[in-house]
Amino acid sequence: MHEMSIALSLCDLAAREAEKAQATKINEVEIEVGDLAGILIESLDFCFGIAAKSTIVNGAKLKIIRIPAKGTCLDCGSNFTVREMFARCPDCDSFKVRIDQGKDLRIRSINVD
Ligand SMILES: [Zn+2]
Repeated sequence: MHEMSIALSLCDLAAREAEKAQATKINEVEIEVGDLAGILIESLDFCFGIAAKSTIVNGAKLKIIRIPAKGTCLDCGSNFTVREMFARCPDCDSFKVRIDQGKDLRIRSINVD
């Protein structure tokens, strides 16, 4: 379950940010998760709660924003929404598709007190 290791690094990062800002409490951690990032949202949310325990991150809300995956066909230049890693161009059936967004997880903001 790699969601746990992701949750742990998120908590670690958030805790370090809070320390930098000399905050006493973290209210919310906002992250962006691409549809092709291979992360189970429910699982990540659950793991975050566990990982946050006994750290300054405890009680913080994890706000998850889904980022739809987008791709570009390298043969015909078409742009489209991608639903799987090995996508096919809907216009010319080519498999030479570059994934432009939706593969990553990143922190958008950390809200502290
Ligand atoms: Zn194409």
